[in-house]
Amino acid sequence: MIVREIQAKSILSPSKIYDYAVNPYTGCQHACSYCYARFMRRFTGHKEPWGDFVDAKINAPDLLILEIRKKKPGKVWVSGVCDPYQPLERRFELTRSCLRILVDNGWPVVVQTRGPLVVRDVDILKGAKNTEVGLTIGTADDAMRRLFEPQAPPISARLRALEELHKAGITTFVMIAPLLPGAERLAGLLANKADHVLIDRMNYAYGTWVYRKHGLEAKLDEDYFRQTAAQLAEELEASGIATRVI
Ligand code: SF4
Repeated sequence: MIVREIQAKSILSPSKIYDYAVNPYTGCQHACSYCYARFMRRFTGHKEPWGDFVDAKINAPDLLILEIRKKKPGKVWVSGVCDPYQPLERRFELTRSCLRILVDNGWPVVVQTRGPLVVRDVDILKGAKNTEVGLTIGTADDAMRRLFEPQAPPISARLRALEELHKAGITTFVMIAPLLPGAERLAGLLANKADHVLIDRMNYAYGTWVYRKHGLEAKLDEDYFRQTAAQLAEELEASGIATRVI
């Protein structure tokens, strides 16, 4: 793992999903097989495989303070092309510092992560207005998680984090995205932990080799996605969790 401390030129980027995105890191230790963010290698000159490098933007908080003074307030997605709570965040605390700045200045924030480390920042999140935290959980089956996301935290740890955040009164959501084999049992596991759920097929292009290697091609079928998503949506709605299939 190559870890560099870098000086970024800017931190508050325009986003197609929300108004802005803040990515305190370039690169991601979770190295998910299907990760679309690996395109970042092209823009940063990294030759290492995705997951083998992380650039920590150590001036991210300083830049953010300057940029929020100049830009029109809007909803900020933390992160988009990295996991803001990947293990290195424990050491650098860049996400924590950026979150503190955004919340203290009243900017609405959507955090999205696979990292239970997000629970560390409950003290900031609890007092935040218009802020929600999403855990990405694509399957209920940890054996499948190990095939597709071997470096990412176990499903049980993500569920515990989600529950803890929810109990603390923070608005929580789950991204079942990409929906992976073994997602069928997720509805029962999310009850009383999430306020809403998004289900998305997303882009399987990078991860198709995992399906082929493990004889899971049938789970790539559009019918599998549609049927599983519809069943999950029905069960989640029945337990009072608003659900959207994208
Ligand atoms: S956690 Fe997100 S950014 Fe990191 S490798 Fe997985 S999909 Fe990509």
